[in-house]
Amino acid sequence: MIEGIILKGIGSFYDIAVGNEVVRCRARGRFRRLGITPMVGDRVLILPETATREGSIEEVLPRKNELVRPPVANIDYLAVVIAVKNPEPDFLLADKLMAAAAMKGIQPLLVINKTDLDDEGLVEDVKEAYKSANYPVYAVSGKYGEGIEELSRGLSEGITTLAGQSGVGKSSIINSLHPDCSLEVGSISQRIKRGKHTTRHVELLSLPYGGRIVDTPGFSAMELDGLEPEELMEYYPEFAVHSDHCRFKGCIHYREPGCRIREMVELGLINRGRYERYISLLEDIKENRRGLK
Ligand code: GDP
Ligand code: ZN
Repeated sequence: MIEGIILKGIGSFYDIAVGNEVVRCRARGRFRRLGITPMVGDRVLILPETATREGSIEEVLPRKNELVRPPVANIDYLAVVIAVKNPEPDFLLADKLMAAAAMKGIQPLLVINKTDLDDEGLVEDVKEAYKSANYPVYAVSGKYGEGIEELSRGLSEGITTLAGQSGVGKSSIINSLHPDCSLEVGSISQRIKRGKHTTRHVELLSLPYGGRIVDTPGFSAMELDGLEPEELMEYYPEFAVHSDHCRFKGCIHYREPGCRIREMVELGLINRGRYERYISLLEDIKENRRGLK
C-alpha cells in the first residue's frame, strides 16, 4: 500500500496526492460501517488502480486535528488575515482565532493585507504588537501582489488555511498565491446571493514552493469551546516566559496581586492591547462557564 493525502472529494471518489501525482480512488465500503468519512487533508493508505480493479482507500491514518468549517484535517498553519482598513482590523477576533488555533495544535500566523492602504504605519505597529508573541507576521497586498512571494515561502510546508473577517481579502490572497484557482472576489451581498445556489467543495491547492493551501477560506468564528479560564494563558506565548514570576502559583494574570504579566504590560514589555484582549476573552470564557453551570 502507498501513502497519500486527500486533495478533494468528487462524489464517491477522492483525488489523492501521491508524491507529485494525483490518483483517483474510491473509499472502501467498510468506512461507512465504521462511521469514518475520509476528509480533505487526511493521510491515507491506498491500493492504486490496476487493470482489473479501481483504486481504493484502504485506511485513514490518525488525524492530528480537524476543522468543521472548512471540513479539513491535519491543518498545520492558520493564517489569520486582517486588513489595514476596509474593514478596520478586528484584533479581538484575530487573537481569538490565534488562541483557538494554538489550542488545536495549529501554528498561528498573522497576515496583514491591503498594505497599499497603509498611510499611517499600521503594519509596523501590528508587527511590534505581535513581536513578543513570536507569531510570524506577513504584510501583503492580495490585490497588487506585494509580499505574496515571501508569504508563499513561509507556507512551503504542510497545510495552511486562511481565516478572518469577511472582506479582509482572503480570496484575493488565495488567488495570488495560486493564480489558476480564481476564487470569487467581491462584495458580500453578491456572494450571499450566489451562495444560495452554489456549494463549493473544499480542495487543497499546491503552492509554488511546496506546501498546500485550503482553497475555501473559513471559520471567521472559531470557538474557544471547552477551554477552562486557567487554560487560555497557555496560548499566549509572550506570557509563558514570565508567568513563573507571578506572586501566586496558578496566577491567571487577571486581578491577582503581584502579577508579573501586568507589571510587564505597565513596563511596555508585553503589548497592552494583547493583554486587554486576553482579559476580554478570559471574561467571555468565565461568563460561558457560569452559563453552563
Ligand atoms: P474575503 O471576504 O476575505 O475573501 O475578501 P475578498 O478577497 O473578497 O476581498 C474583499 C475586497 O477587498 C475586494 O473588493 C478586493 O478587491 C479588496 N482587496 C483584496 N485585497 C486587497 C488589497 O491588497 N488592497 C486593496 N486595496 N484591496 C484589496
Ligand atoms: Zn500573573
